[in-house]
Amino acid sequence: MLPGWMRDVIVVLGGTTEGRKLAQGLAATGMDYVVSLAGRTTLELPEHTRVGGFGGVAGLVTFLRDHRVRAVIDATHPFAARMQRHAVEACRIAEVPLVRFSRPGWRKHPLAHTWTWVNSHADAVAALHDTDRVLLTVGRQEAAQYACHPGPVIVRVAEASQEWRDTIPAQWTVLQARGPFDVEAERQLLAEVDVLVSKDSGGTFNEAKLEAAHERDVRVVMIARPDVPHVPHVASVNEALAWAAAHANPKAAT
Ligand code: NAP
Repeated sequence: MLPGWMRDVIVVLGGTTEGRKLAQGLAATGMDYVVSLAGRTTLELPEHTRVGGFGGVAGLVTFLRDHRVRAVIDATHPFAARMQRHAVEACRIAEVPLVRFSRPGWRKHPLAHTWTWVNSHADAVAALHDTDRVLLTVGRQEAAQYACHPGPVIVRVAEASQEWRDTIPAQWTVLQARGPFDVEAERQLLAEVDVLVSKDSGGTFNEAKLEAAHERDVRVVMIARPDVPHVPHVASVNEALAWAAAHANPKAAT
């Protein structure tokens, strides 16, 4: 028997600020929901959270059916492409409505034309000069791909376990810090480097580094978002809540 709170629910695929805010909103409205996390963070888990992969598309289809999921809001990070593709496929098979809630990218940022846009980490590595002092802000999972860069690297990550530190060059400087960061702090950090490498995560949460890099004349290598299948999109917590309310268990939504 499944716990009551796991049935007839709205599922939020999370792991992001958007996912956390949405969960707070859903809790406040009284809708039945579950937040799903991959299990990468050590932050305290909020209520109504399940953790771990579903086991690919087939596993997610089973989950959607077993829990009689009403609808799915994909609030994963714009670079969580595999999860996004799985969600599209599984929701199609299980006939569950799906919407994506994501922050706008930086393609239209006023400074976007000044950056070197690349499509992969390999291309980002290739865009570096050997002597460049680099600030790497691409996240934990991808950092090791820059290990061949001969110049100095500062890598900034939200969480830095010893296990992860063992995957990167010992001479790198690890900066463990969780945003948002203000422009003044970013100016100080960027004074130490020649190049900033960033993913097009988008939104305002992490954008101070972009302005600071411009001021400091630091080159920016920007990794473009991966291609993911098109699905209906909402752009704010309120919009996502309204969409959820339209699909929620009617008893809970009233
Ligand atoms: P990914 O490559 O798209 O997904 C890899 C696998 O992790 C998926 O196939 C799925 O496993 C599992 N997974 C991912 N998100 C999940 C979720 N919300 N709930 C349950 N299982 C999930 O994802 P990723 O880039 O490794 O990111 C993992 C998580 O970190 C995501 O939730 C994402 O929102 C968050 N995050 C990612 C980034 C980034 O830059 N990639 C940055 C900040 C936060 P199964 O196939 O077994 O279902």
